[in-house]
Amino acid sequence: MSPINLAIVGVGKIVRDQHLPSIAKNPDFKLIATASRHGTVEGIQSFTTIDAMLDAVPAVDAVSLCMPPQYRYEAAHKALSAGKHVFLEKPPGATLSEVADLESLAASKGVSLFASWHSRYAAAVEATKSFLASTTIKSVHVIWKEDVRHWHPNQDWIWQAGGLGVFDPGINALSIVTHILPKAIFLTGATLEFPENRDAPIAADLHFKNADDLPVHAEFDWRQTGKQSWDILAETEAGHVQLTEGGSKLSINGELKFSAPEEEYPALYRRFAEIVKAGKSDVDLAPLRHVADAFMLGKRKFVDAFHD
Ligand code: NAP
Repeated sequence: MSPINLAIVGVGKIVRDQHLPSIAKNPDFKLIATASRHGTVEGIQSFTTIDAMLDAVPAVDAVSLCMPPQYRYEAAHKALSAGKHVFLEKPPGATLSEVADLESLAASKGVSLFASWHSRYAAAVEATKSFLASTTIKSVHVIWKEDVRHWHPNQDWIWQAGGLGVFDPGINALSIVTHILPKAIFLTGATLEFPENRDAPIAADLHFKNADDLPVHAEFDWRQTGKQSWDILAETEAGHVQLTEGGSKLSINGELKFSAPEEEYPALYRRFAEIVKAGKSDVDLAPLRHVADAFMLGKRKFVDAFHD
């Protein structure tokens, strides 16, 4: 089968760090065009708008949309309407309703829509899911704390409404939690801390439970300097489970059980090729729904202004 002709829209940090190397290694894809106001990829024909690209390069079969979430719906709608398969970076959109609309459009056009959650493909996530399925979980504690100045320098969009603030990394934790726990969880209370000069939170404290009253506590904070924490801890009848370093290492009762090199984006592109070939979509909105619930149920606290 000939490769899927791919275009990338929104050439920025994550495209350079992850999409380009992963696409280059995957024979199922051939990058043939980009659309970005400023960014280009050497040796690939580039356009400044998706409209110009779709008009000029009808051979495009699929489009990866890697701009900030507030600007993704419009591009996704254009690509799906033109009959292209679409890969959405995380979070898949700025609202639940716009992504639901895209899902219907993809179905009506007979093309695939992929709401990607890269952290679900972290090395130790499946091993953790299997272990948790084999025991009874007593509590879960998520600690996702990082230094926003280090990871998101000069990203104004992330602080604007729809940019999600600390939920931009926090939703990665939620994408893992919603995948590894055997039963659905739902929010029971939350506190969101907003810098007084920003429209998105810098920290969030979230309490969830499931139908069996399993307590799940999540702490997201963007003010962490020094050691960064991307950990999910669970107390179970079979002992203490630690899924650390963003889902890449699993330890049980202090003993390392699983660790492997990071391969999240190569796995995302393998999954995208799989759903395109199978003629289906993969759109799980659970992580985004929890974030929406936090904005709906969470108490707001205003904290010191944040300056880059
Ligand atoms: P970014 O570099 O700030 O933005 C990506 C590109 O989007 C920019 O280079 C820009 O390209 C375009 N863009 C920016 N503002 C735009 C606007 N107003 N309208 C249209 N296009 C705009 O962001 P990023 O870090 O790559 O993140 C992009 C997405 O990937 C986010 O949803 C993020 O959550 C996700 N992601 C990021 C990371 C990471 O480590 N950075 C990891 C995983 C997922 P032009 O100026 O050329 O148009």
